[in-house]
Amino acid sequence: MNADFAWGLQNLIPDQKRQKYNNQKLEGKKYSCSTFMLYLGLDKKYDHLLHNNVFISGDYKNNFMEIEESKVLSRDPSFYVQNASVTDPSLAPDGHSALYVLVPVPNLRSNIDWSRKTGSFRNTVIKLLEDRAGLTDIKDHIKYEKMITPLDWKEELHVGFGATFNLAHNLNQMLYFRPHNKFEEFDNMWLVGGGTNPGSGLPTIYESGRITANIMCNKYKLNYKEVNIQHNTYSLQG
Ligand SMILES: Cc1cc2nc3c(=O)[nH]c(=O)nc-3n(C[C@H](O)[C@H](O)[C@H](O)COP(=O)(O)OP(=O)(O)OC[C@H]3O[C@@H](n4cnc5c(N)ncnc54)[C@H](O)[C@@H]3O)c2cc1C
Repeated sequence: MNADFAWGLQNLIPDQKRQKYNNQKLEGKKYSCSTFMLYLGLDKKYDHLLHNNVFISGDYKNNFMEIEESKVLSRDPSFYVQNASVTDPSLAPDGHSALYVLVPVPNLRSNIDWSRKTGSFRNTVIKLLEDRAGLTDIKDHIKYEKMITPLDWKEELHVGFGATFNLAHNLNQMLYFRPHNKFEEFDNMWLVGGGTNPGSGLPTIYESGRITANIMCNKYKLNYKEVNIQHNTYSLQG
């Protein structure tokens, strides 16, 4: 199974067939944060922004606690802006550009009602772009926009609890303590992706594919050549 672990189990395998990872136990796990996404098509280019731009909250610790503990939307969140058109102008027509804005937010185990909060949080993010990223006239240049909220991650993209980085990486959910590549509950079920060993993030996820492929081939005595991935070709997480 390469679907998101929590969503896949809850939606593809009946609850009564699972023990270690039944719905109640899945509820008891700790999950990563989610993200609020804004994808903008602009009829302007902002050359003062780099390709990758990270804006850190004035009170980073408080922002972190709001995401992880009190699970409320920050008024002053950290956020990331990708202005990839400065590197690759072919992403948009001449004089236009495309922005990707990512704001870490609590996952769906909060009381945030995204069906009501989306509009106001979108406006908060636009204000952040104006005030903190220096895009003072951005509102006049938005030709296309798409949002993805934690609820959309769950409902449309099938990410359990909207936790875009899967099961949290706390000590008792890391590596061997994650659901195993040869899934514990069923003889013929194997996992790849952020919900299994070694963990979430692209480099580790490639590694999960390698580990799972190798143990499957070994178990079934397939004539195989051990897959080795060149570690120096990985992109760095985040
Ligand atoms: C906005 C954002 C930015 C990120 N940035 C980074 C970054 O910079 N660096 C980094 O390392 N990581 C990053 N991540 C995390 C990384 O993208 C994820 O950890 C990773 O994509 C998860 O991989 P996966 O294979 O577990 O799941 P996914 O990539 O979600 O793949 C699961 C696939 O299974 C499919 N699927 C679901 N159900 C079924 C079904 N029933 N039948 C068939 N197919 C199904 C889905 O359509 C999907 O294609 C980011 C994540 C997000 C959301």
